[in-house]
Amino acid sequence: ADASALVDRLTAVVADFPQPGILFRDITPVFADAEAFSVVCAALSEPFDGSFAAVAGIEARGFALAGGIGAQTGTGVLTVRKAGKLPGEVLSESYALEYGEATIELRPGQLPRGSRVLVVDDVLATGGTAEASITLLERAGYEVVGVAVLLELDGLAGRDRLASRVPVHALASAP
Ligand code: 5GP
Repeated sequence: ADASALVDRLTAVVADFPQPGILFRDITPVFADAEAFSVVCAALSEPFDGSFAAVAGIEARGFALAGGIGAQTGTGVLTVRKAGKLPGEVLSESYALEYGEATIELRPGQLPRGSRVLVVDDVLATGGTAEASITLLERAGYEVVGVAVLLELDGLAGRDRLASRVPVHALASAP
């Protein structure tokens, strides 16, 4: 089956989650379906296959995708984590949310400097999380080859925000 159609068919739309007024896209049914999970992992990496040594997953749903892609493509996995989860030396990057601020972290030194890395997550909204992830990975000395997501939300300009830095690959889009 076609990866975009699977994402469209299996994504659930949940009103007022996690806060009133937010229309949340729940992509976890894509992970639960054996065929869909395999097909979407392959489709996420396909434009970049052969060009990366590791996949960086963004906490938490990006971890599942990064694991699948890493296993399928024979590449490693890096975890971009919420603040306070990683031991030892970490690089931190803070970015603005609609209300407030978020911080994500990466352990440097896990791969040689210059290693090429693909960033993956479930949903691209404003692009703030993905942009901060690119910055973290570049600060660690890596070259980011692209950002791949299951679903991009139109109208939040996430793609525009990232496009000057790296190619953006989305399997599906939603208003
Ligand atoms: P951004 O930083 O692009 O505004 O938000 C993207 C981050 O928030 C991603 O890590 C993504 O998992 C999460 N996110 C934002 N909106 C949604 C949504 O509707 N559904 C899901 N599953 N995640 C979302």
